[in-house]
Amino acid sequence: MNTDDTIVAISTPAGRGGIGVVRLSGPDALLIARQVLRSPGTAERRTESSKSTSEAAPTASGSDGKRPLDLQSWRVRFAELPDEQGQVMDRALVTYFQKPHSYTGEDVVEISCHGSPVVLEFLVGRCLWAGARLAEPGEFTLRAFLNGRMDLTQAEAVRDLIEAQTLYQAQVAAQQLEGAVSRRLTPLKKQLVDLISLLEAGIDFAEDDVPVLSNEDMEARLTPVEQGLAQIAASFRTGKIIRHGLTLAILGRPNVGKSSLFNCLLEQDRAIVTATPGTTRDLVSETVELAGVPLRFVDTAGIRQAFDEAEAIGIRKSYEAAADSDLALLVLDGSQELTYEDRDLLARLAPLGKLLVVVNKSDLPLRLSAERVIEAIKNRTSSSDSSVPSVSSADAVPVLFVSALERRGIEELRKAILETALPALAGERESQFLTNVRQERLLRESLAALSAARRSLADGVPHEMLLLDLYNALRPLDAITGETTVEDILTNIFSTFCIGK
Ligand code: GDP
Repeated sequence: MNTDDTIVAISTPAGRGGIGVVRLSGPDALLIARQVLRSPGTAERRTESSKSTSEAAPTASGSDGKRPLDLQSWRVRFAELPDEQGQVMDRALVTYFQKPHSYTGEDVVEISCHGSPVVLEFLVGRCLWAGARLAEPGEFTLRAFLNGRMDLTQAEAVRDLIEAQTLYQAQVAAQQLEGAVSRRLTPLKKQLVDLISLLEAGIDFAEDDVPVLSNEDMEARLTPVEQGLAQIAASFRTGKIIRHGLTLAILGRPNVGKSSLFNCLLEQDRAIVTATPGTTRDLVSETVELAGVPLRFVDTAGIRQAFDEAEAIGIRKSYEAAADSDLALLVLDGSQELTYEDRDLLARLAPLGKLLVVVNKSDLPLRLSAERVIEAIKNRTSSSDSSVPSVSSADAVPVLFVSALERRGIEELRKAILETALPALAGERESQFLTNVRQERLLRESLAALSAARRSLADGVPHEMLLLDLYNALRPLDAITGETTVEDILTNIFSTFCIGK
């Protein structure tokens, strides 16, 4: 793809609106804007003069208007968009951003006209006629990246910000757009580059009396980098949920009140207009917003011992939904003793490690206590049924009492859902989470290389070999924040050691 020509695109969403924006970026942006737009009143004046001198009709386009459009950087100008016959098609506000002080770092012209798809298409067509090229998807941001206006994490955050479904998601994306990920990574990367520089110096400039690092020194320098990266990588679990939302499966036997609870939770929460796409496998699914996190409820078929094949499929789907979800909500009927199915569900779901037990119908005389539930998990999992894995932390399974009928305990349930699924969110309402799969994969790659370096160190391999591991750890970090060049490392060596001064 050519990146030094001038591109054009409609920047506002498809459809009709009060305003629609067409954006031009590239060396000819100004020229093209002047060709397709003209100063207001140019046509009228021409018509006037043609009347008085009985000349022919005005020329076809505004491009040869007598008064060229006066565009100055950071100034808004009022302009006319003439059609091919020179008639006013629309009026527009035009903003020129002179390079490098623009979104892309190139000359940018933004033309705001009325949000009519045909007018906008026409304007783009005129720009193409005047020499622009239609922008590829994301090309404005790509150019911003190529021109050093933002690093990759910021470019990726632009997309997240645009796609955010909740204000909290937008805040997290905005933090990353401000460089939050790079800010956390850069000091760690610097420590790694320092270590590489020290090793390189020890090898290349041995005769210059550069001190050779001891294994202990190296370990001491490796550890904080590893720990820091691991910490950022670990924040991805929470970050992923913030970005993609939380999937919650509601399970339980028939008539315990799943649908009532489901409706209760949906009713009070603001429904999200565009639900995250995904497979629902015939299960009812709804998305709401909970403290800024999109929450997708999957209401599963009532579980009981299967009598026919159709029901067996429904039950299997319920278990699959629970396994796929971030959190399973098991609903029990508090007015009844635990049944065989309840115990079976408890035993199967507890080992998944993401279970919240909701004892419903607490408005009726209770025949269930939290202790009974925990006991049931413990007993079942220590039974001889080998198909059920054991669970070591039954006590950690939260048990909540609610009444869907009287809408009691719903607020607490909501809180518990967030705390159980996103423990990291409870403490700090920070936006320092890694939300990007690509970035997480790269961090894991870097961590794997650092482990290899640690092993190399323990095995006493030569520093040349160790360096390979360290470069393998650096490369993925480069892919996140930007490349470290040979010059960077050399500069680092020379500034540290004053070699050959
Ligand atoms: P599901 O089959 O698990 O989805 O259960 P439903 O939500 O359809 O509820 C089954 C029955 O229990 C209905 O008659 C509800 O009115 C009733 N029910 C649901 N929640 C409560 C509750 O908190 N208290 C009482 N007393 N009845 C409830």
